Order: sequence, then structure tokens, then C-alpha cells
Amino acid sequence: MEVTKVYLAAPRGFCAGVVKAINALTWMVRVFPPPIYCYHEIVHNRLVVEAFEGAGVVFVDSVEEVPSGAPIMLSAHGSAPDVIEAARSRGAIVIDAVCPLVTKVHHEIKTRAQRGYTIVYIGHRGHEEAIGATAEAPQAIRLVETVDEFDELNPIEGPVALLTQTTLAISDWEQIAGRAERVYPSLWKPGRLDLCYATTNRQGAVKKLAERADALVVIGSANSSNTRALERVGRELGIRRVLRINSASELPDDLDGVIAVTAGASAPESVVADVVAALHPRDGVEEVATVEEDEYFPPPPELRELMSGLNAAASLLFGAQTGPVAFREESAAASLAWLAVRSAG
Ligand code: SF4
Repeated sequence: MEVTKVYLAAPRGFCAGVVKAINALTWMVRVFPPPIYCYHEIVHNRLVVEAFEGAGVVFVDSVEEVPSGAPIMLSAHGSAPDVIEAARSRGAIVIDAVCPLVTKVHHEIKTRAQRGYTIVYIGHRGHEEAIGATAEAPQAIRLVETVDEFDELNPIEGPVALLTQTTLAISDWEQIAGRAERVYPSLWKPGRLDLCYATTNRQGAVKKLAERADALVVIGSANSSNTRALERVGRELGIRRVLRINSASELPDDLDGVIAVTAGASAPESVVADVVAALHPRDGVEEVATVEEDEYFPPPPELRELMSGLNAAASLLFGAQTGPVAFREESAAASLAWLAVRSAG
């Protein structure tokens, strides 16, 4: 392997929704004795999930698997209304780590369905986000993954709305949305695109690097939709070789020339550092930035209540506030480091 240069895409890696979810679950691990249950993978990243498993978190695909009274966290991808209800009737403490941008789509689905719209939802069949969102109004939804699937839909009578999974490749969305607008000229779409800022920004950053790169390394897990979208963008742009890896140990040893590196929204920056070190570029590393992100999502409301209750108790017992838990990006990395130490101990 003779890598001459590494270009690092920016932005890359953790988004505000992932930071919120990782910090919220870490807080539960700090406060409650194990096991803590989490409905679905908290975020779609193998290493992050393994870090939580090492600290006593049990991931389940059904709330029925959770013993009555145990603390439950619901994943960042958003849960179906009946799952939330079942969790609340089962768990003593239920914290929903859904990303607010996914909640926005749930709300749009509910509202449009109540107004009599049929909703064409562009998403990945079987993906947790699509399952949770479409469960808001299953009778009103037509889920499509491709233009061909859209073309195979029976003609829709009455008003039609177009809503979308937040983490798709922009080009996939554009193709289907373009076709839908031609077929249904009065199609309703949200004022602000459902594809989230993190998804679009990370794809934009890869576009900027495409011309310079002999190969693109995308860091992230196979079940991460926004990670797969980055791979797709790289291929569509004609980058000769596009690889997706979970960690530096999966790098092949025949990479040469100029390598672009990016990371999906749930991939830790520590893995990016490991990958760059393993590539060991002869002429160094250069970060190429497109936009700066400063989005911040506060902790889930149920968690805020618990935190303020604990702060109040600490104040009564010890005469001092324990202080708010920081929920910004640096603290998600710190959360993972803390989990690693705890697992090792
Ligand atoms: S990728 Fe987008 S929708 Fe998903 S958690 Fe991050 S900000 Fe939210």
C-alpha cells in the first residue's frame, strides 16, 4: 500500500441526533444499574452498539423482551406509536431518543393523513426509521424505494403528499420526487426537505472530493442508511474504488494514491483517526470543508425531567447542584471513552 495523500471530508461523522442518543443512553448507564434495555440499536453503528453492550445495555427488537419495570430507551430512528405505548406500559422509566428531525416526519405523516392525503413515502423497506414513520398512518402510506416501485403504484385519487426517510441519497430522492411531481402536479411536499442536514451535508462534502480521489473510504456500518448513501454518492460520481468499513482493521492492504475519507453520521471520530493513521499518507492529510455544522439537540424531555429531579435531590442531600450533563459533540466522544473504561474495569 502506498497512499500519497488523504483528503478528509468535512462535515463527517456524528450528527446532533446521534450525539443526543449516545449521551442519553450513557446517562442511563451511569445512573441505573444494569441491565438497561434499548429498543433497536441506539444508532446504526456496530462499534457504538458494542460499547454499550459492554456496559450492560441489552438491545431488543421487541419491547415484549423487556422485563416489567426495567428502564427502557427507544432508539434515535423513531418508534411506532404502538411500540411507545407498549414501552410506557411496561417500563418504569422510558426515554425516547428519537431524533427531532425524524419526529418532524412522523408529525407530517400524521397531519397529512388526518387531512385526507395519500402519502407517498420514499424510504428503505425494513429500515427502523421507515417502519416507525409509516406506522403513524399505515392506511394512508405508499412506501416506495425506487422510481420503478413508484411507477407500479395504482393511480392515487385525491390529494397526494410526498414524505421521505431522512437519510437517503439525494439522487434517489430527486429521481422519485421528480417523477411524483410530474404524475401529480399538485403534490404536497414539506417546505423544508425531509432529508436531514447531516445527510445532505455529508454527501455534499464527498462531492467536493470526488475529482481528486483514487478511492473513497466510507466509515460506518452496513445497516446505516446515511452511510450507504455516502457509498452510493461516491459510485455515482465515478470514484474508481469505493469501500465501506467499520474500523481500520477492515482496510484492504492494496490501497494506493489519493484517498478520500468520510464517515457516516453514527461513526465515531476515533475510528476516522485510526483509519488515517493506518493509511499513513506520504504527503499528509488535508481536511476539505464544505459547511460548518452547529446543530444541537437537547436531551429527551423525559431525561431532562429525571436530570432535574436528581439535581434537586443532590442539592437537598449535599447542598450543591450536580450540574447539567453536557450534550454537545465532544461529550459523545467522552461518553464512548467512559463506556470503554467501564467495560474494561
Ligand atoms: S442522520 Fe439526520 S435524522 Fe438521523 S439522527 Fe442524524 S440528524 Fe437525525
